[in-house]
Amino acid sequence: MQPPAAPSGFDPYPPDLATCRRCPRLAEFREEVARVKRRAYRDQEYWGAPVPGFGDPDASLLVVGLAPGAHGSNRTGRMFTGDASGTFLYAAMHRLGLANQPTAVSRDDGLRLNGVWITASARCVPPGNKPSPDELRNCSRWLAHDLDGLRLKKAMLALGKVGHDAVLRFYRQRGVELRLADFPFAHGAVHRLDAVAGAAEAGAVPLVDAYHVSFQNTNTGRLTPAMFDAALAEAKALAGLG
Ligand code: SF4
Repeated sequence: MQPPAAPSGFDPYPPDLATCRRCPRLAEFREEVARVKRRAYRDQEYWGAPVPGFGDPDASLLVVGLAPGAHGSNRTGRMFTGDASGTFLYAAMHRLGLANQPTAVSRDDGLRLNGVWITASARCVPPGNKPSPDELRNCSRWLAHDLDGLRLKKAMLALGKVGHDAVLRFYRQRGVELRLADFPFAHGAVHRLDAVAGAAEAGAVPLVDAYHVSFQNTNTGRLTPAMFDAALAEAKALAGLG
């Protein structure tokens, strides 16, 4: 189950993450979902464990999602793989030249990202897609693991308010003098965290917001492909990816 360590020396899936049970509710839920399964996937072995970040270890753009989907990445073991959210996200990345293919169905489907790393605010699937504040606090250590480890980042894209707030809290803990209220989440907003006091010492980079690529948003038209492409293109440009 252990994915290979990235060539830069950054280990996307250290043993402490692979076996993490700091949130008892989420640890039990991820395993229960993996045991019970959805009928359509009953012949598959679910991942049922914390999900590692995925992408290019030399990434200049970091995408911060919410949490694994029950029958998406909690099943496949790779971020945004195997459900409607990933279908929407990777199609957009492919349109913008950030992925070699538009689909993501399994860990061995050949998908490669160009200059992008995907991580999340929580690594275990939460009931109702809602991790509690305590669970997000627990898992901030694993978000920090990726944000600290991927040193070539030049920009970030938050998928939804939870990811947005998690990035702000990370930089505040690193000494950036910011108040969350000064950087409200809004689809398409660009937050110049790199211009805040303490940003240089913390290596803070600009943050772009997008609505989350959840089925609830994409199916209702709250988030359209054109809207998402515009936010992703902004983040791509800030990351120096053309
Ligand atoms: S959500 Fe994060 S902190 Fe909580 S058990 Fe999973 S990996 Fe550990």
